[in-house]
Amino acid sequence: MLDFKPTEEDLAIAATVRAFVDRELKPLESFLLERDIAGGPPGLTMEERDGLRAKAEASGLWGISVPEEYGGPGLGYVAQAMVAFELGRTPIEFFFGGFVPDILYLLNDEQKERYLLPTLKGDREFCFMLSEPGVGSDARNVRTTATREGDDWVISGEKIWISNGNEADYGVVFCRTVDGGTEKGITAFLVDRDMGWKSSEIKMMGTHHAASISFQDVRVPDANRFGEVGEGFTTAMSFIHTNRALLLPGLMVGACERMLEMAIEHSKNRVTFGKPLAERENIKFMIAESEIELRALKLMVLHAAWQADQSVDIRHSACFTKFYGANVANRVVDRVLQIHGGIGYSKEMPIERWYRDLRVARIYEGSDEMNLQTISRNLLKGYEPVGKLW
Ligand SMILES: Cc1cc2nc3c(=O)[nH]c(=O)nc-3n(C[C@H](O)[C@H](O)[C@H](O)COP(=O)(O)OP(=O)(O)OC[C@H]3O[C@@H](n4cnc5c(N)ncnc54)[C@H](O)[C@@H]3O)c2cc1C
Repeated sequence: MLDFKPTEEDLAIAATVRAFVDRELKPLESFLLERDIAGGPPGLTMEERDGLRAKAEASGLWGISVPEEYGGPGLGYVAQAMVAFELGRTPIEFFFGGFVPDILYLLNDEQKERYLLPTLKGDREFCFMLSEPGVGSDARNVRTTATREGDDWVISGEKIWISNGNEADYGVVFCRTVDGGTEKGITAFLVDRDMGWKSSEIKMMGTHHAASISFQDVRVPDANRFGEVGEGFTTAMSFIHTNRALLLPGLMVGACERMLEMAIEHSKNRVTFGKPLAERENIKFMIAESEIELRALKLMVLHAAWQADQSVDIRHSACFTKFYGANVANRVVDRVLQIHGGIGYSKEMPIERWYRDLRVARIYEGSDEMNLQTISRNLLKGYEPVGKLW
């Protein structure tokens, strides 16, 4: 049966997260905007983030997405989507301590000790290094090489647009492997910063910053190979699907909800030509269209989360939720900014921040065009039936 009604426990967790966002994050919004205008960092610094994580731990929110076997509550995907809905209600990018990308759960036991467990504790920082200059949508074409030399691999090449790349002390890097002079496909490696890679920050349009990374003959032991030689691309994709299906579109649901609430409030209060904006048909229609799209998105995310909870393959759904979430969020922020007029465009409110931050959602983690291409390929080749929900 198709049933993604949240449990009482899921609702209680979502309420705790909302209270945390209202109490700890929303009051920081104007401070961060002012600091950004003054030329400071656009988002939370690592110290500020860690301070908030300590507070989250005190509220019982540490490790909220961690599986039971690693000491977390083992929340289902529907509950995790609901947590994302709440965290998305502020443009401040923040995840509770113990949040690690799914990909790290695929490490072998010895690697988990060195990388997963310290990352869960917050002692290590991770980044995901796939894109390169001239290699983005066509990620299978990675040119960074890893050449076998005895028990080691020697990595050379450039990575670009790497989130957290300037802060991370290690990352998973995807390389074209050459062994015995022959190419063996793409392989992933765990590479510590102190093995020799260097990063430099790239200034971006919104809060979400990124780095370019340079590898020049960086020597990595074979014990740091992540999975089998030639299996790196499959590993990379397993990370991207959960993120695309639940986390990013879930954050967008939260952003749309809060922005629409702001637009409703503003349209009731702002009077022009003797009447509140809320009485004008064009304003009402913008509000109504936003609500329709927001609800459709929320259902789509909950459906994908329910599928993941049933262990159904979510790759096809992930393309829908990521594409639709990114586009709905960009349409909603545009309408909400329009309803607010000048104040919406100003740095007095978080709307302009969202306007800049949400734009990237149509580009990273699979661009609009790549998602449309995959959806249509699945249908045209008969890999997926039309309109299947269960
Ligand atoms: C803020 C930010 C953070 C990021 N974080 C990471 C990260 O942590 N790790 C990482 O590895 N990468 C990261 N990326 C990179 C991101 O995944 C790429 O930007 C994305 O894959 C697009 O690649 P590209 O920028 O090279 O664009 P291109 O591949 O050059 O594409 C440009 C445009 O053309 C379209 N296009 C491309 N090919 C086709 C086609 N065949 N048909 C139709 N249209 C097409 C694309 O959809 C896009 O709109 C990040 C990017 C940004 C902006």
